[in-house]
Amino acid sequence: MNVNTQRVRKALVDLARRAIDTEPLTNDDFREICESVLVSKMYYDMDVGKNRYINPVTKQLIVSENIVDGKIMLYDNGEKTDLVMKYTYYYNDIEYVHAYIEFRPGIKKSDLDLLMYQFMADQIFIIVSRQNLRVMLDFEEAYDDRTCIPNSRHLKNKYARVTKHYPKEDICVIFLNLQNFKYLNEIIGMQGGDEALVKYAVTLHSFIEDEDECACRVGGDNFALFVKKENMERTLKFLEAVKLDDLPHLKGREYALSAWIGISPSADCEAPIELRLEHASIACSLGKQRFKKKIMVYNSELANNFKHGREIVAMFHPAAKNHEFHPFFQPKVNMLTGELIGFEALCRWIHDGKFIYPDQFIPVLDRQGLIHDLDMTILNETCIAIKKWLDMGLEPPRVSVNISRKNLFIPNIEEEIIGIILRNGIDTKHLEVEITESAKEEEFDRLIDFLAKLKNQGLRISIDDFGTGYSSLSLINNINADIVKIDKSFVSSMLNDRKAAVLIETIIQIAKRLDMDIIAEGVEIADEGKALIKLGCVNAQGYYYSKPVDFETTTKLIREHGFKPIQ
Ligand code: C2E
Ligand code: CA
Ligand code: CA
Repeated sequence: MNVNTQRVRKALVDLARRAIDTEPLTNDDFREICESVLVSKMYYDMDVGKNRYINPVTKQLIVSENIVDGKIMLYDNGEKTDLVMKYTYYYNDIEYVHAYIEFRPGIKKSDLDLLMYQFMADQIFIIVSRQNLRVMLDFEEAYDDRTCIPNSRHLKNKYARVTKHYPKEDICVIFLNLQNFKYLNEIIGMQGGDEALVKYAVTLHSFIEDEDECACRVGGDNFALFVKKENMERTLKFLEAVKLDDLPHLKGREYALSAWIGISPSADCEAPIELRLEHASIACSLGKQRFKKKIMVYNSELANNFKHGREIVAMFHPAAKNHEFHPFFQPKVNMLTGELIGFEALCRWIHDGKFIYPDQFIPVLDRQGLIHDLDMTILNETCIAIKKWLDMGLEPPRVSVNISRKNLFIPNIEEEIIGIILRNGIDTKHLEVEITESAKEEEFDRLIDFLAKLKNQGLRISIDDFGTGYSSLSLINNINADIVKIDKSFVSSMLNDRKAAVLIETIIQIAKRLDMDIIAEGVEIADEGKALIKLGCVNAQGYYYSKPVDFETTTKLIREHGFKPIQ
């Protein structure tokens, strides 16, 4: 049998030209050359199992559409063969891949121009490698390398393509942040967490069936997608709890992962895709951090809210430097005797002569990790005030300061607190720390340790907002606090709501049994005071006596020695 070298040369040139064309090579492209050189089958034996370019969604090696028995098949006309030639290619000095050429039946090695076949195999290898490289680069650019689903660049490009023929008014953009993913990582380990992430990504990706929709991984445990308005309901239902099965680290048990969801609705369609993604992610993080709502839809009010948070963060350090944060003091009173028994220091931000109240900035600072600076500032200012009263010859009652729970994880926080007090030349007996209860176990252990260290140094501790957390009863039993502070939400409803009254009564009884003092906050009217006294709580703080007041007014209150008793 004869080989027409002219035809071979032409087929090789055609193939090379096709390879630099924009379309990927297909098996058809190898037909002409294989037929012209009496070849029945041509393939590579690259170890596809270990190749990382396996797309977990399609389960295909992305460099070739055609994988048979682990071989990358270039051509196969189905005929049997009597002669197989093997060509070896090296990478970093190791055998990297072998090319196989199977000849049509009846052909013997002696029939062949070996040099020409070697040349042809090498040329094809170069052409295919170049092609593979291009596919791999495209893949790197458009796909996420951990999960192999599209990345956000891909999503943006696809949005641009789709909105050329589909009205963008009918497309919603969704941003997702997995709920409790950290927790999952903790219980099944990093590797298990990775597995879950990949599984989630693949499940999400396969959920999208419409050609004109797209899902991607943004990074970390964040994902984004865009879907048609008509598919929103179905999509949200799916996202509510994505079921992951077959996770080896969960021993095959099914696990449902839900997500915080932020939506850039169709009304937001005039914004370019980059902005729509940002809007959806703002909605998502506000839902998670601020509103505790699983699904948040972006609108201009949310935008202002977010902007406000950012402005607070930007203003904070200059304001602290500028001494704009001051403690105001609210008296604590024994309702039976009218005696002034203490103050609570509450932060006020005085900016350009205007008051900014804590609910406007404390939650933002708490979330952004800036609360420690604020708490230490207020503690320091409170110590300065106490020192001034002492220097005036007054005997100020004990003043409590609020310490956010976030401080528990600041290294050496106890030393820092004690250091601030002592550096101001006052004794720890003048101060008390208010800290809210905690539901998280890891925080709980740390809280016990924190309280013990501060108590050792002579500070009193009160548990703030008692009754609003989840672990109240177990907490109060295990914790060595001095005072329980009944939250004002119970006090304000106790006269109309029997449940609140029963709860207050229970708290009081437990506190007494455990030898703890008790105080109610938010007492606004005498009837609330009377009811509290009846239930056994005689100490109170609230507008009934006074709002938080500045240093001068507080000085007057200390001089006056108390209030009228509640009859
Ligand atoms: P909180 O610790 O529960 O403080 C009591 C809040 O109730 C104060 O609000 C106080 O002004 C208000 N209040 C007192 N009596 C009454 C009353 O009779 N009726 C009503 N409706 N409210 C009353 P404020 O000063 O706005 O502080 C709000 C929250 O901000 C505080 O709640 C506390 O959690 C936080 N906060 C204030 N200053 C600081 C601080 O320096 N550090 C930290 N970490 N948090 C602070
Ligand atoms: Ca407080
Ligand atoms: Ca409170």
